[in-house]
Amino acid sequence: MPIFAVFVTLLPFERLPWGDKIWTMNRLRYKDANSYYKERFGSKVYKAAIGLADSCPNRDGKCGTGGCIFCSEGGSGEFTISSGSIKESLDHAISMVSKKAGPDARYIAYFQSFSNTYVDPKRLDDALIEAASDERVVQIAIATRPDCLPQDIMEVLARHASQFPVMVELGLQTANDGTGKFINRCFDTSTFVDAVRRLSAIGCDTCAHVIFGLPGEDINDMMESVRVASICTGVKFTCLYIPKGTAIENIWKRGEVEVLGMEEYFDIVEKALDIVPEDKVIFRVTGDCPKKLLLAPLWTSDKRRVINYINRRFGS
Ligand code: SF4
Repeated sequence: MPIFAVFVTLLPFERLPWGDKIWTMNRLRYKDANSYYKERFGSKVYKAAIGLADSCPNRDGKCGTGGCIFCSEGGSGEFTISSGSIKESLDHAISMVSKKAGPDARYIAYFQSFSNTYVDPKRLDDALIEAASDERVVQIAIATRPDCLPQDIMEVLARHASQFPVMVELGLQTANDGTGKFINRCFDTSTFVDAVRRLSAIGCDTCAHVIFGLPGEDINDMMESVRVASICTGVKFTCLYIPKGTAIENIWKRGEVEVLGMEEYFDIVEKALDIVPEDKVIFRVTGDCPKKLLLAPLWTSDKRRVINYINRRFGS
């Protein structure tokens, strides 16, 4: 093969005839989670969602009560398995995806629901030791709040991140502190920025969650959230959901908030993709609210249609 051809095939991007840039790895306009995992771990990996924390400081009164207005009873982790020890939870969570994943699949131990660094440091340490010692696990992902990273917790994270891949996921949702107050987030954006800097300094990867369609936000607010979130290793986008039993349900029923239509939502995602730097990972372009909780927008429950739409719109 000529040297020029070798060079071309090694490029991560190519240009489509109409000018759009496309990742050669996934034929998408962005670097997705699968491409990142393949690059990092050499194969596709699957998430095994397990539990550690059972509350957060925004629910138990430490910094707020009632939680974020969109947060469900399960702490936004309805797919989380919490059955006995970490090993038992992992076995259970893995058994639920192993049929699709196959016997040799590798996994991310994903501490998903509530704020998983809002626990005793020793408990976190023990949980991380147990998860990392499981030979099926290639990375630990920890969902938490940016104001739940005191020094003793950072020391635990630093120790593990020096030996094993650790990703910390933070629910920024918006960079607009006014909206942050409205959704009862109970931390400000500067706390998020500081947390990402501290986590990066100790070798943790980071991921920020951003919600499009929050009440009162226009496109400029949303793009500013994308800019701020892009200081992380990667981002997860989702539209605003109305889950049953949450504070946002009442606001929605009073007609004070509208949800986004599918085209409208992906128009926003498209603008966001233009802003996120090329080296950042788009871990998710849309979220996943359990069907039994979802009141709106109902188009999000038709996963096959949404995936086809994403591939058509953002693929080659
Ligand atoms: S910080 Fe997370 S767990 Fe706590 S209320 Fe908000 S979304 Fe729910």
